[in-house]
Amino acid sequence: MSRLSTLALALSLAAGSWVGLGKPDAAQAHTMAKALVARAGMAAIPLPGGLAPPVEPPAPGVDPSLLPDPTPWPRLNPAVSTRRAWLLAEGPHHAAGDGRRLVTFTFDDGPFPETTPVFLKVLARHEVKAAFFWIGHYLEGEADRAVKTREIARQVVAAGHLVGNHTHDHMRLTILPRADVLEQIDRSGLAIENAIGKRPMLFRPPFGQLDAWTSERLQERGVELVLWSVEAGDMKSDDGQQIFDSLREQLEYAGGGIVLLHDVRWASADALEKLLSWLDHHRWDPARPDVTGYQVTDLVQYLRATAASPQPFDDRGELEQARSAAWRKQHPSRAAPPAVLATTRAEVD
Ligand SMILES: [Zn+2]
Repeated sequence: MSRLSTLALALSLAAGSWVGLGKPDAAQAHTMAKALVARAGMAAIPLPGGLAPPVEPPAPGVDPSLLPDPTPWPRLNPAVSTRRAWLLAEGPHHAAGDGRRLVTFTFDDGPFPETTPVFLKVLARHEVKAAFFWIGHYLEGEADRAVKTREIARQVVAAGHLVGNHTHDHMRLTILPRADVLEQIDRSGLAIENAIGKRPMLFRPPFGQLDAWTSERLQERGVELVLWSVEAGDMKSDDGQQIFDSLREQLEYAGGGIVLLHDVRWASADALEKLLSWLDHHRWDPARPDVTGYQVTDLVQYLRATAASPQPFDDRGELEQARSAAWRKQHPSRAAPPAVLATTRAEVD
């Protein structure tokens, strides 16, 4: 991306055309803008008094056709198809000689007052922006715990992370009556909006399962379906080292991905710290772009890279075949990570 288009994108984010969340948040837009500006090697825009920076018009003489799309969120799956969302989660296709492996982090089933702040600290220490998918009912009501949970929710947003809807009660949507499906989606969206002042426009169904009817309802709501590609069963493990080992192996095998962890588990926080440290030590070096290395990005950058270099496969099955053939060729004596082979994800629609 050129410096000019990066700046323009940064300014459009600062102007509030941020659709990852319903209404834009000035601090979040500014964080994104700052990150983009920093990436382009320019000075960060100062942010006086917690307000968004002033939006400057393009310099005279700039050809408007050179400016990027005013909507920064990449709409790659308007049909809300889970089949497509699983493939998108696998990330960009790696051209020959491209050693850069993108990794982005997502957290489900929170917010949880005891554990979520620990995740925020780990992410801040490593300067990583993630996406959190919340269960609405944790945010509802006037009980002390709900009030505290809403406070944590606002901290997540203030730290510049994205927020998505993960249903009201973590129900499997494919077996619910239709009225209940809508309640699970809309009541949760409202609870999140009431907590943070924005309607979440990202959605992740529990267990990654949706049927065609629910896909259409989500399509009507204009939400972005976000799934994942790397997970290590952290809801069932108390062993941070084992979770870390599994995630690292899968990232090596798949060449990056959208990592799913749960910010309701101590072992998951331990695994996150270990993985982010490992990724720091195996960072992609732009000076040697063909050497394999990792770059941790936010979800927007991850999907933009996918849009720029889409997978040349119709579905994950084809991708998996190609990937495992490449792995066998490169590592004739090393088995593929078992967690990958054991993972089955329904493509219900
Ligand atoms: Zn979940």
